[in-house]
Amino acid sequence: MLDTTLMNHFLELDEKNLTLTLEPGVLLMEISAYVEERGFFYPPDPGEKSATIGGNVSTNAGGMRAVKYGVTRDYVRGLELVLADGTILEVGGKVVKNSSGYDLKDMVIGSEGTLAVVTKITLKLLPLPQKNVSLLVPFPTLAQAIGTVPLIVKSKAIPTAIEFMEREVIMDAEEYLGRKFPDNQADAYLLLKFDGNTMEEIASYYDGVAQICLDQGAVDLLIADTDERSDSIWKARSAFLEAIKSSTSAMDEVDVVVPRSHVNEFVEYIHGLQHELGLRIKCFGHAGDGNLHVYLLKDNLSDDDWHRVLETGMEKMYARAKTMDGQVSGEHGIGLAKRPYLKESLDAPTIRLMQHIKDAFDPNHILNPHKVCFE
Ligand SMILES: Cc1cc2nc3c(=O)[nH]c(=O)nc-3n(C[C@H](O)[C@H](O)[C@H](O)COP(=O)(O)OP(=O)(O)OC[C@H]3O[C@@H](n4cnc5c(N)ncnc54)[C@H](O)[C@@H]3O)c2cc1C
Repeated sequence: MLDTTLMNHFLELDEKNLTLTLEPGVLLMEISAYVEERGFFYPPDPGEKSATIGGNVSTNAGGMRAVKYGVTRDYVRGLELVLADGTILEVGGKVVKNSSGYDLKDMVIGSEGTLAVVTKITLKLLPLPQKNVSLLVPFPTLAQAIGTVPLIVKSKAIPTAIEFMEREVIMDAEEYLGRKFPDNQADAYLLLKFDGNTMEEIASYYDGVAQICLDQGAVDLLIADTDERSDSIWKARSAFLEAIKSSTSAMDEVDVVVPRSHVNEFVEYIHGLQHELGLRIKCFGHAGDGNLHVYLLKDNLSDDDWHRVLETGMEKMYARAKTMDGQVSGEHGIGLAKRPYLKESLDAPTIRLMQHIKDAFDPNHILNPHKVCFE
């Protein structure tokens, strides 16, 4: 077992190159505090703020701002790696562009510790946007809410985040947090965030989006233009997972990612599936990047029934996602549990290539053995 807890130092803030070099055990919430205090911005913003940057790099974490800013991979300039035989290697660096041979840095990002141990990371930073505004948009149906997303994307307004949520999940969050969400009357909601340097600039983005939402049947537009209002909405959004967890005896998650244009179809499929399987399924997620969080809930099922239904449910969902050109994991990675579904989703040449890559980096398979790849 490797523990990076004490590798938690900021090593260099290079303001001329807009980079931050740090050790892998620094927590995501420590990075945002450190850089924002100095007027800089590190955009990747996955829900788990106490994750380490080493873990974020190794799972290519995305998060709420991925629609506009991209994911961890887009912000890693360089890595120091320790290979399975102990060799220390620097890949990438501070250069903005690199066309020098195979990109080993990008290969290690998202490899879940199966290719090398990351011991130092150089991140790209941006100037901190000065203002942000969130829009909470209630819709009569989830299909209308999600159907609006491709139109928003097509309008080129580029919100930082587009999340969808259903009333049921909001009610769970209200009960869990013991406080009211700004609205809980509609069946479904889109939550959007826009950022920029002035309120005028941001208004120029969201005015058009607001009109698109109204044209698609939105029943209202709730604008959160102060930090306090915006924080209260996003804190509730961050509590969805814990709220769902507290409403059942056990659960498991599917974190598939499908093209944005298929989110509606996939969510409809899940709604049908919960009746077919006879268990509750809750769903919310990043509508802006097609990354869904689908939670299958055990409730009062016996252990045997639960495992049987879970397996059937997972198989069906991954098979369906594949027909939509989706991928097995948009977030948590493959690890051990999702290996069969990854194998199912890839063709033989891709699997072979992945095996060769694993063998080249780690011939004795000592790094995170049995994870991701297929022996
Ligand atoms: C509540 C919650 C919300 C989340 N929301 C999002 C989201 O919105 N978007 C998103 O993309 N993800 C999300 N995630 C996934 C999250 O980003 C990852 O779980 C996280 O990045 C893992 O970081 P960690 O420090 O917990 O790593 P760990 O769980 O400890 O490790 C993750 C993997 O990386 C490997 N690893 C860790 N450090 C290193 C290192 N230094 N070198 C090599 N390998 C290493 C580990 O071996 C393991 O395979 C969420 C997770 C949770 C629990």
